[in-house]
Amino acid sequence: LKYKGFALIVGVTGIVGNSLAEILPLHDTPGGPWKVYGVARRPRPPWNADYPMEYIQCDIREEEQTLKQLSNLQDLTHVFYVTWANCSNEQQNCEINGQMFKNVLNAVIPNCPNLQHICLQTGRNHYIGPFDDWGTLNAVQDAPFCEDLPRIENPNFYYTLEDILIKEVTKKEGLTWSVHRPGVIFGFSPCSMMNIVGSLCVYAAICGHEGEPLRFPGTRQAWESYHSASDADLIAEHHIWATVDEYAKNEAFNISNGDVFKWKHFWKVLAEQFGVENGGLQEEGERRSLSDMMKDKGAVWDAIVSEKELLPTKLEEVGGWWFVDVVLGNEGMLDLMNKSKEHGFLGFRNSKSSFVSWIDKIKCSKIVPL
Ligand code: NAD
Repeated sequence: LKYKGFALIVGVTGIVGNSLAEILPLHDTPGGPWKVYGVARRPRPPWNADYPMEYIQCDIREEEQTLKQLSNLQDLTHVFYVTWANCSNEQQNCEINGQMFKNVLNAVIPNCPNLQHICLQTGRNHYIGPFDDWGTLNAVQDAPFCEDLPRIENPNFYYTLEDILIKEVTKKEGLTWSVHRPGVIFGFSPCSMMNIVGSLCVYAAICGHEGEPLRFPGTRQAWESYHSASDADLIAEHHIWATVDEYAKNEAFNISNGDVFKWKHFWKVLAEQFGVENGGLQEEGERRSLSDMMKDKGAVWDAIVSEKELLPTKLEEVGGWWFVDVVLGNEGMLDLMNKSKEHGFLGFRNSKSSFVSWIDKIKCSKIVPL
């Protein structure tokens, strides 16, 4: 097979890394045939072992290790940066995430003569601020967000990453970049730090096991307002589009499904998928956060995993409760896909089908019971 594209996916076991690893090697993927290298910190997990790619275990926080492991991949033409570190405050996020990104770029840009394009994934927090600022910035007034809104004042590691990217690409003539800004991602990865569908599946499975109704842990605002999601496969298609389309070069783009939904409707779907009673929205005084409801459920999860013969996981790996609590605790905020469409990306997803199909994939992969 004669390859045309040589891809490095940084964060290959993550929620979008997984979709890229699945889609890039397909025979009809634009820009292909692709040879794929994938980097993640942990050993290769069993659910990704069949993807035709070269798996590289490397901690990109470590400068020397990154240089040693990545500088010999001299055939690379494209980098897909779909990873991050979650630190205790945003200042640290800027430092650590900036250093990780630089470590990768320093290993790759000077050593890959055919390098053409770097895709960086950030997110909708570009407009809203880091999670700690959610709800305090009144960003809702500026929604629906479009790409050319001015930056907000608070520190934001997405700004750090964009600035590094734009500076570093000038070190190689002709090297181009794109930035991809999804909202809440619907996808598959038991290794993701933020996987709302996966976390909700685990919560629903625990409710089913204990015979409890599926209570919505969030606020009335979140229950009733419009939200939009970003399907992980759609995001992967958006990254790949940016590597082949001239109009996508050196630009930042939102990437969301193109429709809206309400959690009060999707909650019913989730309850049906797990055969549990829909407990619905809780009265203000009775509402408990998911982090609180799930804090002692580690042993319950271990019992479910063993009884249903699931892939071995720990509750804290597959249940990202803090993230669900943030998303379901706030009013939805919408972005616009006009810029992507005007530049030629016409992809979309039906969010309800996306929600159900990722639930199916999570069940079929034996992460949660059928
Ligand atoms: P993720 O948490 O799903 O996956 C991260 C991947 O990076 C994993 O493969 C992990 O093993 C790897 N990784 C982490 N630290 C590493 C290290 N030190 N060395 C090597 N590999 C390492 O990632 P994601 O959610 O796709 O995040 C990518 C970007 O997308 C982030 O900026 C994130 O904020 C943004 N984003 C995510 C969501 C979401 O819902 N998940 C929504 C909007 C934006």
